[in-house]
Amino acid sequence: MARSAVLGLPRIGPDRELKFALESYWAGRTGAAELQETARGLRAASWRRAQAAGLDVIPSGEFSLYDHVLDTAWALGAIPQRFGDAGRDRSELAGYFALARGTADARPLEMTKWFDTNYHYLVPELHPGQTFALDASHWLTQFHEAGALGVQTRPVVLGPFSFLLLSKGLDRPLDLLETLVPVYGQLVRELAAAGVRELQLDEPALALDRAPGELDAFERAFRALAVEAAEAGVEIALATYFAGLDTSGALERVLALGAAEVHLDLVRAPSQLEPALAALAALGGASRTRLSLGVLDGRNVWAADLDVALDRIDRATAALGSDRVTIAPSCSLLHVPYTAAREDGIDPEVRGWLAFAAEKLDELRTLHAAAGAVKRDALLAPAREAISSRRTSKHTNDPAVRERAGALSTADYDRAAPYPERRAAQRERVPLPDLPSTTIGSYPQTPEIRAKRRELRAGAIDEAAYERFLEGEIDHVVEVQERLGLDVLVHGEPERNDMVEYFGERLAGFAFSAAGWVQSYGSRCVKPPILYGDVSRPRPMTVRWWQYAQSRTAKPMKGMLTGPVTILQWSFVRDDQPRQETATQIALAIQDEVLDLERAGAFAIQVDEAALREGLPLQRAQQDEYVRWAVDSFRLTVAPARPDTQVHTHMCYSEFTEIMEHIVRLDADVISIEASRSDMDVLDAFTGAHGIEYPNEIGPGVYDIHSPRVPSPEEVERLLELAESRVGRERLWVNPDCGLKTRRWEEVLPALEAMMEAAKRRRAAA
Ligand code: GLN
Ligand code: ZN
Repeated sequence: MARSAVLGLPRIGPDRELKFALESYWAGRTGAAELQETARGLRAASWRRAQAAGLDVIPSGEFSLYDHVLDTAWALGAIPQRFGDAGRDRSELAGYFALARGTADARPLEMTKWFDTNYHYLVPELHPGQTFALDASHWLTQFHEAGALGVQTRPVVLGPFSFLLLSKGLDRPLDLLETLVPVYGQLVRELAAAGVRELQLDEPALALDRAPGELDAFERAFRALAVEAAEAGVEIALATYFAGLDTSGALERVLALGAAEVHLDLVRAPSQLEPALAALAALGGASRTRLSLGVLDGRNVWAADLDVALDRIDRATAALGSDRVTIAPSCSLLHVPYTAAREDGIDPEVRGWLAFAAEKLDELRTLHAAAGAVKRDALLAPAREAISSRRTSKHTNDPAVRERAGALSTADYDRAAPYPERRAAQRERVPLPDLPSTTIGSYPQTPEIRAKRRELRAGAIDEAAYERFLEGEIDHVVEVQERLGLDVLVHGEPERNDMVEYFGERLAGFAFSAAGWVQSYGSRCVKPPILYGDVSRPRPMTVRWWQYAQSRTAKPMKGMLTGPVTILQWSFVRDDQPRQETATQIALAIQDEVLDLERAGAFAIQVDEAALREGLPLQRAQQDEYVRWAVDSFRLTVAPARPDTQVHTHMCYSEFTEIMEHIVRLDADVISIEASRSDMDVLDAFTGAHGIEYPNEIGPGVYDIHSPRVPSPEEVERLLELAESRVGRERLWVNPDCGLKTRRWEEVLPALEAMMEAAKRRRAAA
């Protein structure tokens, strides 16, 4: 009989209980005991739900008070020196949170994206000569807790290979495997002594492009650990996810290692099933390795096509026998919300197509039952009905949208004139000084703005009062910019709580959950819009605010839009058509807004693509195709803008070297990027230093908006000089790194003053 399993469960709490418990603990309102109590309660509830769903393999140890990579570093004793005594007693929560959040004297560990998810982990810091000292209590505690509830769990541990590759501080991190593997060996022994029979070793790093030497290192490490595990009587289930091992080069090697089980993500990479079965067949009776089939999408919120999943399960069962098959979601359910059933604000038809974590457990149960059954139709009927309703619904099929997208030709992706002609037309329409200055869009989202939004939602004020309030905010923002002498103004985005949600709420094809939170990092959660249908724009979304703002000033007011790729990237996106098609639909919807802004008189229109780069597939072989359609979507969005309309884009990161040719192909008139923290080094990518020179205008950020620190005019001047020496004055704009919405006015005003003073000095310099 096949087993059912999950690699991990959501942990923030169905009502974000962990978030609130953490914040209360950090604020000193409650103590460690209360926080631990909440955490215990959340774990117990998760295990009970998993048990009630009939799961054969239930995880433990993946629950974290902040982050599972931090848990691993903490347990291994990889604690940077600047934290002093923290970690001497690893039950001390204050030390643990010091690494996560920093202290007065020690900056926290750096945070970065967990593979291609919107979850962020803390980057372990290692140094040459690094040693480790295990404290296994994280896993022991959770395993015993579950045991006390009558639940035998499979502890989840981030493997040594991925741990090292996710860390920073070492040129050759894998050299440390030799030191680290014995520590993992000790962990396995301690877990065995506590009664653990099976351990899930997560090695997601195996699914990225890997050099043969790296795989050699992995293989040596795994074999050494397997010897320890065998002696201790512990099975190792090796889990990979987010991409395919067939294309990373690791598949055959990993399957030949004799692991008790290997988990493959068959949602992201269904192509690896056949080669995996072939590889196991080639090993013959020598291999008893079970295959764990990740057939339900752990990264998205849609009810699965169970027939597709069953087909995969059947093929594996036929090849291996059912006792060597485990049925599972593709990855941990950390990346989806708790339960769709309570989302009664979502159209019931659409809600029926959703599967959050709870519904995925139901799907697993159904799959498990169906896999062993001769007569499946009755079991599968409800799921089939959801799939077919979704396929034929008018929500997913808007003929007008399809016709418009279907009629596109290559010319629809090009602006009417090449950049040099556009530049001339734009300068004629609106003369700008050397080093024109602007900002990225948002101004401080003050507590007053948030409070007003809450009042509106609660019905305490009406729409008209809210709009009057927003007009007052815009008045202020415009006044400030005029006083500072900025050249291209913005309205400040006070009406937007979020740059994607605002547009999602105004586009057809999006739904919003009430409690669909997923952890982003620590106590922070996001509630991504759910893009379920064909996308169109019923009416203008921003024109009213732009018009009001422009009416307050003679300076050009920049229109401000979010681009199609970023909307896609920060939403749960329909999986019943290629992402590229969905991106085209969004692009056309945003294009409507571009044209309406233009008709209303906008000279400059910015289309933000903050998330373009983070959408890059994990494996190089797939990246080109993605960037091609991502850039096409941007081009489509702005293509029909007149030559004398200045198209801006903004990207919040500083790694462009690898994607420069695509950035050039965006063909925005002006691009603003994050640059201050790299001391303008990012501009090397734009100067031709790596082979491609960026031909259009560029605004490298001249101060860091992520920090409350106010720069001096001299600092900004120096950065501007550096920028001029790289790209020349002709093409250079002056702006901050990103939007200002997270900052306070007390910081924004002096910082922008410094920026404008620096611009003035540079303009005066011959
Ligand atoms: N226009 C947005 C803002 O200023 C851009 C933010 C972003 O790219 N992250 O807030
Ligand atoms: Zn930004």
